[in-house]
Amino acid sequence: MARAGARPHTLARMFVDQAEIIVRSGDGGAGAVSFRREKYVPKGGPDGGNGGDGGSVIVEADEGLNTLQDFRGQRHWEAENGHPGQGSQRSGLAGRDRVIRMPAGTLIYNAETGDLIHDLKPGERTVIAPGGKGGFGNEHFKRSTNQTPRRAEPGERGVRLTLRLELKLIADVGIIGLPNAGKSTLLAAVSRATPKIADYPFTTLAPQLGIAELDPSRRIVLADIPGLIEGAAEGAGLGHDFLRHVERTRVLVHLIDAAPVDGASPAEAYRTIRKELAGYSPLLAEKDEIVVLNKMDLIPDEGARAEALGEFRRELKLGHDTPVLAISGATGKGTRELLEALWKRLHPGGGAGGTGGARAEGWSR
Ligand code: GDP
Ligand code: MG
Repeated sequence: MARAGARPHTLARMFVDQAEIIVRSGDGGAGAVSFRREKYVPKGGPDGGNGGDGGSVIVEADEGLNTLQDFRGQRHWEAENGHPGQGSQRSGLAGRDRVIRMPAGTLIYNAETGDLIHDLKPGERTVIAPGGKGGFGNEHFKRSTNQTPRRAEPGERGVRLTLRLELKLIADVGIIGLPNAGKSTLLAAVSRATPKIADYPFTTLAPQLGIAELDPSRRIVLADIPGLIEGAAEGAGLGHDFLRHVERTRVLVHLIDAAPVDGASPAEAYRTIRKELAGYSPLLAEKDEIVVLNKMDLIPDEGARAEALGEFRRELKLGHDTPVLAISGATGKGTRELLEALWKRLHPGGGAGGTGGARAEGWSR
């Protein structure tokens, strides 16, 4: 099959995760007006301390994060106000900063003006809203000409910003298979969220992305790679950007209808797709693959299910080191095991806790 022809390079935004949050840095504390009180001295000099600085809102790139989903649960992020100054030249305590962890690659926009404030790079940490400065206490204003200033400054106000966050998602897992293998059904069954697909200019074949969540710290981003074959039949092919995208997946799920209505052989379906894949994209064809027999619910008898699996393995001469998973995307049976198996492939060696299953990419063009 011909690869989609070179198209004018567009800035297609493919799979975008978005969130809006409101951040507020802390106000600076007020400076104090105070005078020393000493024994036998009716009125001492000024000793009002400065107010503490307000805390800043800081954004930190966290490579373990791969989506902006967490921000849907928490919209407001505030740093602490600075504390007021006190007598005896005591400065107020600074307010605590508020650190927000975001996936590397997050684009941070000012939601009101639309301006790009920051493009968060891996390992980066940056102040997004600086805290207000603390005000000077009256001691600061003492002059030879004014020994008893009654003046102190209020603290500077913190900054309030509405931020729009945007993240381009890269799928870790691509789902391949013949038309009707159940790719869309499986994706919908395991996805907690389906990010919207923005500005996808290419074909009628709409690629889909879903985020599966094994638990809050283990997420896998999957892409339904719609018909290698469907595309060929329509002469459509997949868009260049889409191909580039799925070529960056790390593992493929090769989904096969275990009981096709026309009685076709599942093993033959497997071979057909492998052949198409090799012709379509050698890069994709080289990917690690998990073979999955789907629609097992259509084979109600336990013995018949084992028989179908055995026959599939024999026909393809699969060795013991090639597992074949049996699932039903429609009922969800076996899908949890599939996700766990995918997680293991994506994170060989255990996968440090809290590490997301997918990478996120910035908008560098
Ligand atoms: P795709 O072309 O690979 O995306 O396949 P779809 O997800 O659209 O599914 C094709 C047809 O198979 C639909 O009618 C689905 O309802 C059905 N289907 C998908 N998964 C299963 C399954 O696990 N069991 C059964 N019985 N039907 C399924
Ligand atoms: Mg489909």
